[in-house]
Amino acid sequence: MKFGGTSVADTQTMKNAVSKISVEVKKDNRVIVVVSAMGSTTDNLVKKIKEVSTIYDAREYDAILSTGETISSCLMALLLQKEGINARSWQGWQIPINTTDNHSNARILSINTKKIEEKFADGMQVAIIAGFQGISNNNRITTLGRGGSDASAVAVAAAISAERCDIYTDVDGVYTTDPRITPNAKKLDKISYEEMLELASLGAKVLQTRSVELAMQHKVKVRVLNSFNEGSGTILCDEEDIMEKRVVSGITFSKNEAKLTILGVKDKPGVAGIVFDCLSKAHINVDMIIQNISDNNLADVTFSCPTDQVEMAKNSLENDKNKNILEYTKLDVDTEVSKISIVGIGMRSHSGIAQTMFKTLGDENINIKVISTSEIKISVLVERKYLELAVQALHEAFGLSKV
Ligand code: ADP
Ligand code: ASP
Ligand code: MG
Repeated sequence: MKFGGTSVADTQTMKNAVSKISVEVKKDNRVIVVVSAMGSTTDNLVKKIKEVSTIYDAREYDAILSTGETISSCLMALLLQKEGINARSWQGWQIPINTTDNHSNARILSINTKKIEEKFADGMQVAIIAGFQGISNNNRITTLGRGGSDASAVAVAAAISAERCDIYTDVDGVYTTDPRITPNAKKLDKISYEEMLELASLGAKVLQTRSVELAMQHKVKVRVLNSFNEGSGTILCDEEDIMEKRVVSGITFSKNEAKLTILGVKDKPGVAGIVFDCLSKAHINVDMIIQNISDNNLADVTFSCPTDQVEMAKNSLENDKNKNILEYTKLDVDTEVSKISIVGIGMRSHSGIAQTMFKTLGDENINIKVISTSEIKISVLVERKYLELAVQALHEAFGLSKV
């Protein structure tokens, strides 16, 4: 059972989680609980670090961020003990949850469940594990990327071959789009791992992308549930287990995107390699890419990345230009764009989806700046001020309010 930040916002709210856990304990289930930090604790810790410096030691950053989950896990243990439940907390390093040393975005390598299993055999009823944190082979504390407690929960469930992994959050399950933006959004009873992976990686923060990858890889039975309501939530499952294949299952968005166009690069073999080598050196997460060739042997290369990486991208491109590694005439930057994506496994077997998407946006007078597609998704970049309008119009156009 994983409880997210809003589900453990304060000690009063944590009692909700305690009652959900007690129900399972009463059924004689052995429960592993993974907790996030309380409310906006992690954001506040990030702010404090940035007060000290914008350039920081990533190992100290992780050690500081991990404290949020340290506190919530211990408080949860105390609250359960108060109910007469035999519970104890475990920090990432105590288990251990071994990770790579890619600080602030580490990946779980292995989880040793031996000690936990011994304690269960010894009478422990609930193990509470601090989410989001692990330990590298250098013996330093690591964190798993924002929202990473989801990955902790799924990875622990996989390691211990849990019957299921229930992710408790502040909405009833996975919806056709973010219910906080589109009130007509409908909860989905089931969603395939593939669709959830696309939705998560394209912006739906209800599950962290890595957690969905892990669930898919290890076939973990994940359910997304509301910690404040009863309900059946949403089940993540294989595509074959969904009888009625929807053409579009969900619409997702990433608000803070930027579009950069490098004008006047030479149209010859190897140039794209040089451009993207330059961006990769600066660790830019390049997303959509287009290239236009003009008559005079010159090309314009456009790409998108998160807005907070724009300065780094600009610096790296300008540096390489000054060093004559890369030639171009001008760099255009637009930081006022958002990415909207439609996702659905039914797209594999249906045509006309792109046409419906583009026509709907056109009818609303929304200009499309960049397009990219994969087998089960279509993404577009639009002006940020049209984000909500576009999501709502697409939600209607694909009949998602009636799911
Ligand atoms: P937690 O703290 O429990 O991990 P998050 O804030 O990370 O919770 O994720 C839950 C939030 O995800 C919801 O409050 C909702 O606004 C947002 N969200 C975005 N897209 C979706 C979606 N398709 N379905 C459900 N929730 C979504
Ligand atoms: N507390 C961490 C975060 O805010 C991890 C999590 O909540 O899943 O990103
Ligand atoms: Mg989350």
